[in-house]
Amino acid sequence: MRLMIKAVLFDIDDTIYEFLPVHKKALKTAHEVYLVYEEISESEFEKQFQQSWDIVKSSLKGTASGSNRVLIFQNLVERRLKRFDSSIILELYNAYWNSFLDDITLFEGVLDLLEFLKNNNIKIGFITDLTAFVQMRKLSKFKLSGYIDAFVSSEECGNNKPHKIIFDRLLQKLGVSPETAIMVGDTASKDIAGAKRLNIRTIQLLKGIFAKKSDGEEKADYYVANFSEIKSILEKLC
Ligand SMILES: [Mg+2]
Repeated sequence: MRLMIKAVLFDIDDTIYEFLPVHKKALKTAHEVYLVYEEISESEFEKQFQQSWDIVKSSLKGTASGSNRVLIFQNLVERRLKRFDSSIILELYNAYWNSFLDDITLFEGVLDLLEFLKNNNIKIGFITDLTAFVQMRKLSKFKLSGYIDAFVSSEECGNNKPHKIIFDRLLQKLGVSPETAIMVGDTASKDIAGAKRLNIRTIQLLKGIFAKKSDGEEKADYYVANFSEIKSILEKLC
């Protein structure tokens, strides 16, 4: 017999909002700032940002810092302008995140689902890669704090998903066993694989750039296109 669900664990990026359009617009805003220091085209700036991201990511494999925009902009300024300048780096960082946070909007049905879980005494956890500060800013922007019973970031745990430690830590904070939890996320190799390894049931949301169905260890128990489908599944399990 299947155990009742006592907690739902949610990823953030590309699970409760769409990453790519806001990221692209934020880069455009950072590019406008950068033009004062070097005249390069928007597409070249985007290419340079990606190159710096790859460099930082490869030296900080599997950790939150690998995607820390302050390190990425630092690398970009050091490579391109051949100097260190904290003012420029912070100006780029702030331009990027302020634009990003201005633009993000929750997917339809997220609040309705969180309301439903709260009314049914099902715990709500958020489990996310990236630095705690930025991810908390996103949750505050969405005004979700009042719904959340526990939160873990990969910065806090030292490893990105699918590492076991980050899932373990959230279950511990929520005080539930893995068999009574279900994970909702967009990325098979991180959200689904990580949860499955601990025997947490999984729902993969097929939205965003990383949302591809996968097999074996990365095969989700349920596939959905939106939050109302997630609610229908949980109504049957709760
Ligand atoms: Mg995600």
